[in-house]
Amino acid sequence: MTPSPGTVIIGGGQAGHQLAMSLRDGGDDRPITMVEAEGRLPYQRPPLSKDYLLADADDALDLAFVADRDYAEHNVHYLSGARALSIDRVRQEVELDSTQLLPYEHLVLATGARARTLMVPGATLTGVHTLRSLEDAQRLRSMLSQVTSVVVVGAGFIGLEFATCAVRLGHRVTVLERSDRILRRSLSEPTAEFLTRRHAAQGVTIMTRASVAELVGCRGKVSGVRLDSGELLPAELVVAGVGIEPNDELAAAARLKVDDGIVVDEMLRTSDPAIFAIGDVASFRTGFTPGSGRVESVQNAVDQARSVARTLLGYPTPYADLPWFWTQQAGHLVQIAGIGTGSNAVYVRPSDDPDRFSTFCYRSGRLVAIESVGQPRTHMQARRLLSAGISIPPDCVTAEDLDLAREIDAATALRPMPAGLGPREGAVPG
Ligand code: FAD
Repeated sequence: MTPSPGTVIIGGGQAGHQLAMSLRDGGDDRPITMVEAEGRLPYQRPPLSKDYLLADADDALDLAFVADRDYAEHNVHYLSGARALSIDRVRQEVELDSTQLLPYEHLVLATGARARTLMVPGATLTGVHTLRSLEDAQRLRSMLSQVTSVVVVGAGFIGLEFATCAVRLGHRVTVLERSDRILRRSLSEPTAEFLTRRHAAQGVTIMTRASVAELVGCRGKVSGVRLDSGELLPAELVVAGVGIEPNDELAAAARLKVDDGIVVDEMLRTSDPAIFAIGDVASFRTGFTPGSGRVESVQNAVDQARSVARTLLGYPTPYADLPWFWTQQAGHLVQIAGIGTGSNAVYVRPSDDPDRFSTFCYRSGRLVAIESVGQPRTHMQARRLLSAGISIPPDCVTAEDLDLAREIDAATALRPMPAGLGPREGAVPG
């Protein structure tokens, strides 16, 4: 019998790295090859818009998940600085930019996403940046030591985290948001309002209903941002935090089903049963939101990698993990369990401390997300609660005697966990 060519993973980010490790931890002894276009070891992206920007250049935090020798020790063949160019699904081979051909038994696309760029005149001027990679963060950190006026376009997580750091470093920072409030895509109104006040208190100017008409410059360098209203804001540095685009072109060229990401089923399989997609690039039906889409988070990348590892190890279970996120901005840790998009009723549960509260979001009368500000314990309980499919009646949210731990114990004692949410069978560690 010819030996299996094993698993080829395209993309050595959060998801690709986790998959390689989970396969080995679960006892897979077939070949594993990981192809990564950036010429460095896989690293964490979350600190890039947070602590990393504040650290001294000489004191850069080590963001890599592993050291070089760890892959060798785990017998993972890591091809750094190699780009996958095409997939031959009939021959089950991946072609690299070096012209090397990699045969596979299973192929996992963990190609992530890239930052969306601004589509306005002047967007290619020097001083206009996005933030996705370590290289982007290094460039921005260096820019922050040279400029005073910063404009951030887009009041999403990354833009506001960047603004938090820039203002802390003493810059004049304006955040422009096209919609009527910050974080419309990801947080409820009460939590967003709280953060708006806190950003203002730290010195960040937030302008909502503000659309960029063009970026203006002098000798090739950005010097200002002109709004649709005609107003001109001075800017030596412009950071676009306007979302990401999935790296799904490789899949599309191989005629896999693609729709704003690579479409996968509940086992995270693409339209070809030998090919899976995980992480930011995968578009799937979550069960936690109506319809399907991509989830851009560390939790999703890690848990989907673990799920595919279980399948490849012979313990297939549909992917059904609760999405959760975090963000750190204006001096506050915000943790989100579930997905509150489209919720139509929101209730705030305050605490004795005005800087600590939680927001319960309901869609059609069902609890779908809990946002915790400065309350890590509540967040952990929220994850258990929502994972178990428990919904608390809205009129109980503000009740003095509400005890989430008790609600979880009572509800889980009464009924079995929903399918796919209980403890995993199989021997796949984290
Ligand atoms: P990526 O990490 O994007 O990895 C994909 C890799 O594939 C890339 O390294 C790319 O070079 C490689 N690749 C692509 N195409 C090819 C090809 N053809 N050949 C070879 N290699 C290829 N999430 C949170 O939950 N909390 C946070 O606080 C948070 N903060 C963030 C801050 C920043 C600045 C950023 C950028 C992201 C943040 N995220 C956060 C999101 C989180 O980091 C991502 O969801 C996660 O990294 C996704 O992992 P991934 O492996 O799917 O994709």
